[in-house]
Amino acid sequence: MTLPNDVIEEIWGTVSQKDWESWHWQFSHRLSDVTRLPRRIWQNEDAETIAGVVKHYPFLVTPYYLSLCGNAAPVMAQCIPRKEELDNHDSLSPDPLQEERFMPVAGLIHRYDDRCLILTNHICAVHCRHCNRKRFWARQTTASLTENRLKQMIDYIGRQKGIREVILSGGDPLAMPDGKLDALLGALRSISHVEILRIGTRMPVVMPMRITKSLCRILKRHRPLWLNTQFNHHAEITADAAKACEMVLASGVPISNQSVLLKKVNDSFTVMRDLVYGLQRIGVRPYYLFQCEPVLGAGHFQVDIQQGKHIMEEIWRKCSGLCQPAYILDSVHGKEKIPFPHNSPLPCYETSCY
Ligand code: SF4
Repeated sequence: MTLPNDVIEEIWGTVSQKDWESWHWQFSHRLSDVTRLPRRIWQNEDAETIAGVVKHYPFLVTPYYLSLCGNAAPVMAQCIPRKEELDNHDSLSPDPLQEERFMPVAGLIHRYDDRCLILTNHICAVHCRHCNRKRFWARQTTASLTENRLKQMIDYIGRQKGIREVILSGGDPLAMPDGKLDALLGALRSISHVEILRIGTRMPVVMPMRITKSLCRILKRHRPLWLNTQFNHHAEITADAAKACEMVLASGVPISNQSVLLKKVNDSFTVMRDLVYGLQRIGVRPYYLFQCEPVLGAGHFQVDIQQGKHIMEEIWRKCSGLCQPAYILDSVHGKEKIPFPHNSPLPCYETSCY
């Protein structure tokens, strides 16, 4: 396990190895007070402006993920608040995919016929500054699924015979305690037409200690189950992250990666190449590269589509087929995947968000 660096010591004091390796310690010691960050991490930002940013979009980071910031500006960019989050343009929206329009039951998105997505909670280990659901943070709610809401969802999915795949998202589903996650997966498994379960989580990236033996036993029990995660930069592929992925894979659960194309994080061929090579080395399939959506509070992360296409063209030409993600533009109106060949004049696939 990565040992705490000097920034960590400055904030949390001396941390024992046992605590550092415990996801409960990591989770309960997340930093939410941005003023406790050493000044050098804020770089040139003005303290008052940053206080205004976190009022809208609260700050939250695990000690582990913060420890990766020391030598990687692209990691810092994903978790340290910036004044640009307050930029407001007509083209930006708090909910660019209009998810709330497709909720037959509050918290259940049913946009595509064969699958639906459950927002299990609004709780994350880290508040990723580019998150397309950062509108939920402003509500400052930590609400998880209530028994009653869960029953409504299970009843709905039970009635919709066309749903063969259910995706758990959030927030982060792995922020739930093991028992609750097990019960939810079990309830979904009891619906005969639900064939596939999928979990979308950033835990292997931002708090790999969450991947425990007991969690892996639960995941194994509810197969066929896929785990999708989001590594955006090779600096996130640490020995801890690799070990977490290895444990999940060893339990028979495949892992796919859904990166987001982010300005000053991974918007170059060399960074993207190192990312997909690194993922391949730890057995994680590079699955999607998402064009960053026009999310209010994250407009400064957007990369021009032509640049994204240029990066992908280099990946297609120079990298092994096994480490090539599909370049994806989420569509509010998309009801099915529209595949374009790599040499299409069109910029990318226009397809589903899950
Ligand atoms: S873990 Fe996922 S849902 Fe949570 S803040 Fe990060 S990107 Fe958003």
